[in-house]
Amino acid sequence: MAVGHQNAGGYDKLARRLESVCRLCRREGMKLFLKGTRCGTDKCAFSRRDYSPGEHGKMRRKPSNYALQLREKQKVKRIYGLLEKQFRLCFKKAERMKGVTGEKLLELLERRIDNVTYRLCFAASRPQARQIVLHGHIYVNSRRVNIPSYIVKQGDKIQLKGKEKLLKQVKDNIEMVGERGVPSWLTVDHQKFSGEVIRIPRREEIPIPVQEELIVELYSK
Ligand code: SF4
Repeated sequence: MAVGHQNAGGYDKLARRLESVCRLCRREGMKLFLKGTRCGTDKCAFSRRDYSPGEHGKMRRKPSNYALQLREKQKVKRIYGLLEKQFRLCFKKAERMKGVTGEKLLELLERRIDNVTYRLCFAASRPQARQIVLHGHIYVNSRRVNIPSYIVKQGDKIQLKGKEKLLKQVKDNIEMVGERGVPSWLTVDHQKFSGEVIRIPRREEIPIPVQEELIVELYSK
């Protein structure tokens, strides 16, 4: 399977969206890192035009409370590549958990196997990680997991398996994106293409610049 940058396009198709992924970054006013290594180069559309797309993109208005809440929700949804229905289900699950709902929401999203594959640097972007999972290359505790929304737990052992071509591409990814580092709640052995969840991530270990409490306010209406 090819896991090059073109997979961002494949992901787009899967998410049934017609918008260009770069347009989403400009809409949210931040880099969402949806195109792998391109995101760190001067080809990044957001670096070149950091205002909203469309005719009125450069106009600045004071956003309403509702608009702010909506933007935060859209931001998180787009970063993790979820559709509205999936995102709502995840929120409901977070609500049923003990603790602060907004933090639990981010914790659940972070524990998705597609995100974990991305955090282990096996993929250059989350869309690419999702493709790797969907194609059945990820094993958790020796069992194949091809559902991107699968939630990992403490102690889970993750293994990437595939043919030489895939492993070569994953190695290239590790070299290209390895400097972004693996978070402290995971350990990784890049030589063996394996990793482990040593604990559940805390909010401060999730580098997503959002005000998650605004999402809780939005869904509590
Ligand atoms: Fe496109 Fe830049 Fe966003 Fe990456 S960070 S998806 S290159 S606009």
